[in-house]
Amino acid sequence: MQVGGPLGAYVPESQWDVPLDYEAYAALGLVVGHGGIVVHDDTANMAKLARYAMEFCALESCGKCTPCRIGSTRGMETIDRIASAKDKEQQVHLLRDLCDTMVHGSLCAMGGMTPYPVLSALNHYPADFGLQPAEATAS
Ligand code: SF4
Repeated sequence: MQVGGPLGAYVPESQWDVPLDYEAYAALGLVVGHGGIVVHDDTANMAKLARYAMEFCALESCGKCTPCRIGSTRGMETIDRIASAKDKEQQVHLLRDLCDTMVHGSLCAMGGMTPYPVLSALNHYPADFGLQPAEATAS
């Protein structure tokens, strides 16, 4: 399930018993956001949902800062390459590096929070990206 809106993190089943409060969520790198909860069934493809987060950011970006304006488009491209590339670990490294730049370099929450759904999908559902668990942790 995704908590906190379209830029909230995906919360795996193993964390569903975590209290829905700011401190408990922050301790796990999650966000309460506006409190919205979207539940997907097990047919959801988490790589496609991660890509959608980058696409959403690209569409909604005001364009003022580079990490959000350009990073969101590069994010879509990198997620596409993870599925097809031979150098999957290098692409995962690029995606994590890009997300770090977006979190710390964006001027507002639009670019700064887009990595939440992207990285939580990658961390918890690597198989949907065509990755073995060890490949998904490349940093
Ligand atoms: S992070 Fe905010 S300020 Fe920067 S381009 Fe995106 S919407 Fe604009």
